[in-house]
Amino acid sequence: MKSHCVHGHEYTRTNTIWRKNGTYLCRFCHLQRVRSYRERNIVAIKIQQDAYRARPEVRERNNARRRTPEYRQRRNAQARERRAQKEVVPMLVP
Ligand SMILES: [Zn+2]
Repeated sequence: MKSHCVHGHEYTRTNTIWRKNGTYLCRFCHLQRVRSYRERNIVAIKIQQDAYRARPEVRERNNARRRTPEYRQRRNAQARERRAQKEVVPMLVP
């Protein structure tokens, strides 16, 4: 096994992705490739996501999740966080 990837990142325990076939990847480079792919294909990815979420069984599963108290608590906490952040931003009075 090499000590560094072709881009100079060290193959540490946390920066190495082992595949089932015994080969390995640099996690940092892999993440960059994934992000770059997402940015280049964002429109196609959104269309796929919408189609997936529109499937009846997926819709029902997501709706069921939204009815749970944990989900509501998390959403309320996020809304509180957003409100708190808005208050911190200083108002620009002309
Ligand atoms: Zn790398």
